[in-house]
Order: sequence, then C-alpha cells, then structure tokens
Amino acid sequence: MAPGRTTAVADADIEAAVAAEAGWMEDVLARLVAAPTVLGNEEPGQAVMEQAFRDLGLEPQDIPLDAEAIRADPFSSPFSWDVSGKRNVVATWGPGGEGGRSLILNGHVDVVPPAAESLWTSPPFQPARRGDWLYGRGAADMKAGLIAMAGAVRGLRRLGVAPLAPVHLQSVVEEECTGNGALQCVLSGPRADACVIAEPHPDHITVAQVGVLWCHVDIRGAPAHAARASALGFNAIDAATTVTEALRGLEVELNRDPPPPYDAFEHPINLNPGVIRGGDWTSTVAAECTVSYRLALYPGEVPASLRQRVEETVAAAAAADPFLAEHPPVVRYDGFSCEGFALPYDEPVAVALAGAYARLLGAPPPLLATTATTDARHFVRSGIPAVCFGPRGEEIHGIDERVSISSMIQSAQVLAAFIQDWCGLTA
Ligand SMILES: [Zn+2]
Repeated sequence: MAPGRTTAVADADIEAAVAAEAGWMEDVLARLVAAPTVLGNEEPGQAVMEQAFRDLGLEPQDIPLDAEAIRADPFSSPFSWDVSGKRNVVATWGPGGEGGRSLILNGHVDVVPPAAESLWTSPPFQPARRGDWLYGRGAADMKAGLIAMAGAVRGLRRLGVAPLAPVHLQSVVEEECTGNGALQCVLSGPRADACVIAEPHPDHITVAQVGVLWCHVDIRGAPAHAARASALGFNAIDAATTVTEALRGLEVELNRDPPPPYDAFEHPINLNPGVIRGGDWTSTVAAECTVSYRLALYPGEVPASLRQRVEETVAAAAAADPFLAEHPPVVRYDGFSCEGFALPYDEPVAVALAGAYARLLGAPPPLLATTATTDARHFVRSGIPAVCFGPRGEEIHGIDERVSISSMIQSAQVLAAFIQDWCGLTA
C-alpha cells in the first residue's frame, strides 16, 4: 500500500483485537501494581513498563531526569529531593506512512503512599482480584491507564496495521508531586499534535483542571515542662491549629466566586493539611511543628499570586498572637507549584476521542473539568493539546483502591479506535 494511504479497519475488528489482549493486559497490570512505586522507588515499575513496550514489538528508550534542566524551566515546581538516576520510559510506534496526526499517550507510574496500610483488606502492593476489580495502590491511579495505552497499541499491531503518524507511548515518574517526569518529556521528548493521558477519568473526557500549590509552614514554639505548660512555654502544635484555621478562611474566600467552568462546582478549591510533624516528647511543650498543605488555584491564575495570599494569611494570623508575632511561621515551597488550564470544548483531540467513545459505547461522553491537577498541563502550555480519559477506579488515594478490569479493556478499545481516527492506519 502506498505511503499515506489509509486503510479503514472496522471498529468491531479493533474491539476484538484489543479484547484478545485482555490476558496480557491483566498479567502486566498485576506485575505493575506489585511494584511499590512511591516517590523515590519508581524504577521497579519502569522496568515492568520497559518490558511491556518490548512486548509490543517496540524499542523502549529512556528519558532520564535532568534536575538542572527541570529547574531552569519556568513551569517547573520546586523540589528538594534527588532525581538523579530516575527515568521516563518511552517508545514510539510508527509511522508506517505519512499524512496522519501524531499522538502522545502518557501515563504516570508513581503512586501515592498507602495512607494507612492496616486499613486495607489486602496489602496495598499485593494485587488482589475480586470480581471485576483489581485492588492495589495505584491500580486505578494510574497503572491500569498505562496498560490500557499499551493494550490499545498491542491490539492494533495484532491487526498488522501501522499509524500514518507516530504514536509515542510515555511512562513517566513524579506526577503525584511535581510533574517532573512529564516536564522532562516535554523538554527532551518528541512533540505531537495531541496528547491523551489515561488517568482514571471514565465516562467523560477531562478538558480543564486546576493548578496546585504545596506549601509547608514551619511553626516555632517555646519548649517547657508540660507540668507548667499553662504558665510557661508556647506550644507549636497548638499554633498549627491557628495557622490551619486562618488558611481555612482563605479557602472560603477562594471558593466564593469561581470562574467558569468551575462555577459548576460547589467547592472547587480544596485546602488539605496532608502531613503534620511536630514535638519530640509527650511531656514537653512542642518546640516545632510543620504542616504541609495542598491548595488549588483556578486556570488563568499563577502560583505566585496564591503564594502571596498564603503568606499574607499566615502573617496576619501570626500578628494576632504575641508569641507568633515575634517568631513568625515560615512558609516554604517544595513540590507542586503549577497552573491550571481550560481547553475549549471543541478542541480537536477532545472531539475525536469523544467520537470514538460514542461509536463504541453508544453515547458521547461529557467533556468535564477536574478539581485535581494532572501532567496534561505541561503538554498544554507547551502547545500540545492534552486531555484525560481512562479506566474506572474507586478509592483513588484512599483505602482499597481498585480498578475495573473490564473498563481497562474498554478504555483500550476506545483509545485504539481513536488512534485510527486521529493518526490514520495503513496496512
Ligand atoms: Zn494520576
């Protein structure tokens, strides 16, 4: 067949070819969930993905993280940890012709910690199948999405076709804390006409997201014997409550008049005190306390403005307390400091993906905004429109996180049909 000539494969044939890969997809997913890929330990998961890309008949490549290049980028988030030795694993399929539109399929291999291992029905890093659900930390967010991407390509390759423009598969690190992996792909990887991230966003396509700010507030106290706590000393852990209450006030303000599309949400901006550390002895008035907060910002706003409001809020709370006025809490930034975005609803990648979804599943999916952030922002701001769509999950970041295996296969089928529509296929 001449280059550029499109071969039309029936949706039913694509669905059957992807369904035939269900066993492979389930096997690789179980291996991937068994890899405890929390921050700093992503490599066992990347090894699984490297082999998975090889199983597609592709040649996987590394995109190593380069701390200096990341920090030099104006859209990077601050990070205090070492990223040397970390890698994204990528592979490119095609092109087998010319004239199509290129595509990035991206997913993150890192997961958040188990939250409270003792509360899980089965251990978080031992994948457990119960009915249609596969349980495990990261099963939904978003290891099944990575496998759906790979399964889509594997199913199409089974049909002996190739895309007219390249399909780039990317398994990245550090989505849950900075976006450093995706940023490195934007800096060192290929460009494409669009990107789909297979986050666990089922039954809809996500076209807008908030920005996220991580801030850490270091609070000083004055240690003393607890027996005389009421007369002596100043308790940093008690003061953390004062700071949190002040930031709750800021949260109320931020939710007062949301711009579209966030006016559809009752409470789009959420403040989360996620980690608290303080004190060193039960009978000593706590001398130090640090609280780590996550806060969100609307598309169009910049993290620097929110930082300023956080600092002003903490300073005002401190000024109202005689001890804190003399020993003001320090606000630090480490981790997410990123903008949101909102794509137009007629963005071609969203329209094409919705079209493939509608043909396979009977009705078009709504295009929605999310009150979380994803790596899509790095692609969007670099000029590559990016949307999220992927398998159905439950209890994401919670206890007994799980993913629907049938929805993983269905997502792969939709992605495969979309690849034909977007990239074109040739025999
Ligand atoms: Zn995710």
